[in-house]
Formats: sequence, structure tokens, C-alpha cells
Amino acid sequence: VIEDSRTFSLALRQFLEAETGLPVTTCGSLKELSEIIVAAPGAYTIAVVDLNLPDAPRGEALDWTVSHGIPSVVFTATFDLATRGRIMEREVIDYVLKDNELALPNLVNTVKRALDNRNTRILVVDDTRTTRKVLAHMLTIQQYAVVEAGSGQEALTILEANPDIQLVVSDYYMPDMDGFELARRIRRHHPHVRLLGISSSTDRKTSAGFLKAGAHDFVSRPFVLEELQCRIASSVDTLAQLRQLQDLAARDFLTGLFNRRHFFERGRSLVDEAREMGLPISVAIIDVDHFKRLNDRYGHEGGDKALAAVARGLSLSAERGFNLLARIGGEEFAVLFPGADLAEATRLSEAIREAITREPLALGDDAFALTVSLGVAEIGPRDALDACLGLADRALYVAKQGGRNRVCADVCEPAQAAAR
Ligand code: GH3
Ligand code: MG
Ligand code: MG
Repeated sequence: VIEDSRTFSLALRQFLEAETGLPVTTCGSLKELSEIIVAAPGAYTIAVVDLNLPDAPRGEALDWTVSHGIPSVVFTATFDLATRGRIMEREVIDYVLKDNELALPNLVNTVKRALDNRNTRILVVDDTRTTRKVLAHMLTIQQYAVVEAGSGQEALTILEANPDIQLVVSDYYMPDMDGFELARRIRRHHPHVRLLGISSSTDRKTSAGFLKAGAHDFVSRPFVLEELQCRIASSVDTLAQLRQLQDLAARDFLTGLFNRRHFFERGRSLVDEAREMGLPISVAIIDVDHFKRLNDRYGHEGGDKALAAVARGLSLSAERGFNLLARIGGEEFAVLFPGADLAEATRLSEAIREAITREPLALGDDAFALTVSLGVAEIGPRDALDACLGLADRALYVAKQGGRNRVCADVCEPAQAAAR
């Protein structure tokens, strides 16, 4: 943070450290800045630069950060068209005005977005090399991870090979396929990718055509840089919100684990994948012992606390590799073990059982030792996940009958009776 006002500088340091988790260095003059950069060149991820410092009144500090390759956000009180022009022609991420009470949160958001952008991959499609390079460069300054394609077909090939691409920015005129056709194909084959169309056509129907073909947004060329930036940022925000919603829909509110719906959805494809690779796959059902007593004694709230404790123990012991862990019922959980045969899954289940007994739980003044029973089954090459859960459930019943706090495999003998 390069800022001569102590008040701003302190507040910024506090907010930025809290919100980004990154350590913040502050300095109040160009002299200090040059010393800091010389002492540790390459140590800084991002700079927040005041344009007006006592020894650098005309944005000289920005020249320093930019020329040293530090991505920079300008934080300024002076704002007129000339200043805006000067800022935008230099390679800055963005500028934030100090003129209102939202200045600090705005700045923190801008910094956070720039850091997030590094994880956002954008594909720029344009057959004209120079315009493609200009756009790619602008997005790189914004910290996005940029991939380029010179034709519609190349764009589709790249999308196929890079499922992490989130956004496509495409020109309309291309020799092999126009923007509309590309939009239609992206919609069909990559429904989760967002598309922003660009065209220099003066025909207003071009934007309508793009949107009808499945693009999410459109910008005319020549564009105002900030407009394009805002539209891209808004698309990226929408994607992040979508992902958040998808994640919420897949999770159980009380424990934060995956829910039953997600378990069956994802579980079925894990079973198919294991089958294709010729690998074994097994499943375990986990049920809390005498949970009703606990509920009766400590109320529903106490019961909920216990369930959260079981979920913590399960996360620590069961969520590794490709395992799929979920809460599939009230006090019932399930784990799918791709790659594990019955013997291996039984061994893993035993480790899970032990981990739960070690999970601390305090209810009122009592320290509580929870136990669980587990039923395990291997999913045969022709079995469905649902049917095998039935088998695991039967094994679970045997474990309960045998005295609880133990693992039973399939319908056979108790695999490993608990020590206690
Ligand atoms: P067992 O050892 O045989 O499994 O005995 P149990 O008491 O655990 O068996 P049972 O399956 O009959 O009891 C489950 C209880 O879990 C019944 C229900 O009231 C309670 N329960 C289900 N979902 C929740 C929940 O979300 N929160 C709380 N607190 N209790 C729940
Ligand atoms: Mg129970
Ligand atoms: Mg139960």
C-alpha cells in the first residue's frame, strides 16, 4: 500500500489483511517505495497506489510499480478526464475513487477480484491477430488467465481440452464459422461456459443474433475499456454465484457434508467410472449408536451438536482421495470408496469408527463419547449403487445386533468386532 495518509494507510492494511489473508506492507512516499522495491523485487503480488504523494505528485509511484511488473490498483482523490486517461493508458488493474464512504470496501473488493481473476480462465477468439492480442493483453493486466484461439474450430478444440475455461469472448466475423454458430455450439457442448460476443458491425441485429444464439452478453467495437471490463467482471461474478448455489444445493445445512441427493448423483457416476477402469468400489453406511437417548437427554439441539461432531470426525477420517462422504439421513451417513474392495473398505471403515470415538463432544457439563456402527458392502460389476446400499444396510443391522460400535461387512460375520 503506497499512501501518504496515515488514516487510509492503517485502515487499508487492516481491511486488506483481514479480507485477503495476505501480509500488507505500507509506505508513504516515493523514496520509501523505491527502497522497498529494491530490497525485495518480486516480493509483491499487488500494489495499491496513491497518485499524489508529497515527493511524487503526478503518479510517479505508479510508474515505479508498473515498470517493476507489480499489478497495480490506483486509489485516488483526484479525478478528472485527464487523470482517467493517464491512468487507463498505463497498465493498471483498475482505479478506485476516494471520494465517498464506500471507497475502502470498493478498494478491498477490487483487490480481491484481481486476486480471484488469476483462477479465472478466459478464451479470446478472434481471427485478427492484432485485435486478439490487444484484448488478451488487457485481460492479462486484469490478472485473468488468458487462452487465445484464431478460429471458431480452434476455440472448440481448446474448450474440449480445457474444461476449466469459464468465459469465452468472441468476435463475430471469422472465416471458418461466424460468432452465432460458435455460440450455438458452445451452448450445446459446453453449457457451463459463459459467452460474450464482440463485433464492429454497426448492424444492431448482430447483438440480438449473438444473444439469441446463446451468448450471455454483447459489446460493440470500438468499446470503452471500462465497459468491457465491467461486463466481463459481471459474467465472472454470475458464474461464482452459480457455483455457490450449486454447492449449497449439494450440501446438508447442519453438517456441511454433501447431502443424499448429491451422494446418489455423484455416486452413480463414480460407480460407472470404477467399472470402466476395472477397479473395485465399495460403500459403507454409518449410523450413530443410541442417538435417540442422546436426543431425549439433551434435546434436539444437543442431538444436532452431536451430529456435527460425527460429521467432523467423518470428514477427518473418510474424506480422502476420491472417497465420497455424505449425510444420507437423520443420523445416517454414507461413504463410497472408489478403488477399494470389501477387505480394504472394511479396514477403512474400522479407522473411521475409531476416529469417531475420539471426536470430542461436550453437552452441558458432560463429556460424551459417541460411537457409530458401520455396514460395508462391495459393489459388484453388475450391481446398482442403491441395491448395494441395501446390502450395507443389512450388514449395519448385524453390527447393531452384535452390540454396536463395530464394523460388519456385507451379510457375513462381523468383520472386526470392536475391542470394547
Ligand atoms: P441405534 O443405536 O439402534 O441406531 O439407536 P438410535 O437411537 O440411534 O436409532 P434410531 O434410528 O431409531 O434413532 C434415530 C433418531 O435420530 C430418531 C430421530 O428423532 C433422530 N434424528 C433424526 N434426524 C435428526 C436431526 O437432524 N437432528 C436431531 N437432533 N435428531 C435427529
Ligand atoms: Mg442410530
Ligand atoms: Mg438410524
